[in-house]
Amino acid sequence: MVKEHDLPYLRRCVELAAEALEAGDEPFGSVLVAADGTVLAEDHNRVASGDRTRHPEFELARWSAAHLTPDQRAAATVYTSGEHCPMCAAAHAWVGLGRLVYVASSEQLVGWLGELGVPAAPVRALPVNEVAPGVRVEGPVPELAEEVRALHRRFHGAAA
Ligand SMILES: [Zn+2]
Repeated sequence: MVKEHDLPYLRRCVELAAEALEAGDEPFGSVLVAADGTVLAEDHNRVASGDRTRHPEFELARWSAAHLTPDQRAAATVYTSGEHCPMCAAAHAWVGLGRLVYVASSEQLVGWLGELGVPAAPVRALPVNEVAPGVRVEGPVPELAEEVRALHRRFHGAAA
């Protein structure tokens, strides 16, 4: 259940997604938050570099493996503007991260990109729990999903 105290972190994810867009990248942003509410790390998509594995959720999983104990990882929450792709869902589970909260689901994103005529991705957009059944996943968050949709429309050159 997404709570009021989750919303500032989710808004930050949307801001990071907007920063990615401004930098010419796909609009995705993610924030890693400790059990006490401290923001530990954040990132946005960097696939415009040419490396299409540079998703923020993947970066945060690796950051957490390098900097947090297993207990700290399990108690942490990853907030993200869009539900993890299978690669990132797997990384989240392999490093033992805890709760995952997304604004827009992969199903929503596929629908939006389909409307825009964007070719299908090379990786199927499975729900996180089909890839990583033990992860506690929450979302979508309707009050912010339209903002995320507008960012994707801008990235693909459509009117908001
Ligand atoms: Zn991903």
